[in-house]
Amino acid sequence: MSELHPFETEPVSVGETGGDGSGPAAPTEHRTYTPKERMAIDRHAMPEQDAVLRSANFREVNLGYPEQLAVLEAERCLQCKNPVCIDGCPVRVNIPRFIELLRDGDMVGAAASLLDDNALPCVTGRVCPQEIQCEGVCVRAKKGTPVGIGYLERYVADWALAHPESLPKAAPSPGGRSVAIIGSGPAGLTAAGELVKIGYDATIFEAFHATGGVLIYGIPEFRMPKDIVQREVDRLVAAGVKIETNAIIGRTYTLRELRERFDAVFIAVGAGLPVFMHVPGENLKGVYSANEYLTRVNLMGAWNPEADTPILRGHRVVVVGGGNVAMDAVRTARRLGAEEATIAYRRGRAELPARIEEVHHAEQEGVRFEFQVAPTEVLGDENRWVTGIRCIRMALGEPDSSGRRRPEPIPGSEFEIPCEMVVVAIGTRSNPLLTASEPDLALNQWGYITVDENLMTSIPGVFSGGDIVRGAATVILAMGDGKQAAHSIDRYLRARHGVPHLAIMNGHPPNDAVDAGAARARG
Ligand code: FAD
Repeated sequence: MSELHPFETEPVSVGETGGDGSGPAAPTEHRTYTPKERMAIDRHAMPEQDAVLRSANFREVNLGYPEQLAVLEAERCLQCKNPVCIDGCPVRVNIPRFIELLRDGDMVGAAASLLDDNALPCVTGRVCPQEIQCEGVCVRAKKGTPVGIGYLERYVADWALAHPESLPKAAPSPGGRSVAIIGSGPAGLTAAGELVKIGYDATIFEAFHATGGVLIYGIPEFRMPKDIVQREVDRLVAAGVKIETNAIIGRTYTLRELRERFDAVFIAVGAGLPVFMHVPGENLKGVYSANEYLTRVNLMGAWNPEADTPILRGHRVVVVGGGNVAMDAVRTARRLGAEEATIAYRRGRAELPARIEEVHHAEQEGVRFEFQVAPTEVLGDENRWVTGIRCIRMALGEPDSSGRRRPEPIPGSEFEIPCEMVVVAIGTRSNPLLTASEPDLALNQWGYITVDENLMTSIPGVFSGGDIVRGAATVILAMGDGKQAAHSIDRYLRARHGVPHLAIMNGHPPNDAVDAGAARARG
């Protein structure tokens, strides 16, 4: 088999992935490979929709491995004695275990193992930056390409979603103490799933009418189908998680009220407030924040021409930024009819923070990249509609505090890009709606919640994690925080109330610091 770019399409039939909705098939046979044969198997590319076709539709780009590719890819795993891939995963998924079970045809075992470690595997199998996590440390990467861990995770997770009847049923154990979770993004959902597993009564309060956080309002359908997010949420609800939508904490209820009603609180409200460029012309008609643009398209259905939600459809669109959000916005603009969709990024290609796969897909879809440029003004006509963006070229100087080379403007290098729309995707920060309503909640200088090593805030019994603590980060880091917070809450409540919980039997021993916090709260 020839060596392919990790994200290039291999000409394979994808019929077996269950286009009929039945999900991926379970492997039927298993032959034994010698170590040499195993090493000779090349990484298998993810089948994907044709780039020309997909740049005009919102269907998922990646199609999922068919059975033979999944099994062959699983054969590439060396089942290392010291599986460093587990250390590379912030939620510590037992990667070799689920891959071995998949390889051996035990799909029920593989799915049960994966779901035990990861509350949202269909999500992480699609959007995790595996190249800098599990796959980044895979030993096969040293002499070639890493095992396609994310692709295999997606295969097993999609199989689990399509075969709920085959999986062991979670047994909610009501009667435990109660925990309120604010926000239904990856951090909140993971914490809730973990808490009900341990035996707590967990209720999520979500400001929007829909559950999933960025997964539902930010990441577009063509990367993260919304019905899949909903089915992952449904699985958590079936396991006992309660969800109250349209509940803005800081407005509908206060944090204080939740503290009175619940034994502990986990704040996972993300960091969804857009940052702007602060250049002249930024308030012209035709300038969107990426947050508004993507929310209109994803959550409010503007991708569908039949929907009531208004959205501008520029023929020439410039997206400012270089992260996943920028890639999602520019690829969305292409799908909404932009003939010229351009990324303007102030550093170089090597510094792009977006996942490699998203950059590769954007290029395939005809997105243009202007590297080392920074906007200085948005230009408009007499009716205040955008007509272009003026930029200045940048040189890369010495590394800054982030370790990346600092961009410096090159005097006299200004130029204009004509366009009808500009989307600003240069970052987000914390939304003060909840944090400003609770003066006892300690924040850092940027307005993010400060926590101790157990994710407990300055208020005893109130924990926090995900983007509202870290600043804009990743799905898997938010999930790691959700998992850690659930176990910290368990230890805190056991120390406070002396109630034995399942976590202790599951090998999560009491933690001195959390116990000390609980003692403080007891007075
Ligand atoms: P969020 O997902 O932001 O969820 C917070 C939830 O809290 C939201 O539902 C919000 O409505 C709710 N909320 C806020 N305030 C209140 C309140 N006062 N009361 C009640 N509810 C409230 N990461 C990756 O790993 N891979 C990617 O490919 C990727 N792509 C991205 C693309 C986009 C467009 C964006 C915006 C982000 C992307 N990220 C990606 C980052 C990732 O999505 C976030 O790091 C992650 O979602 C953070 O999870 P969270 O649970 O902390 O917060």
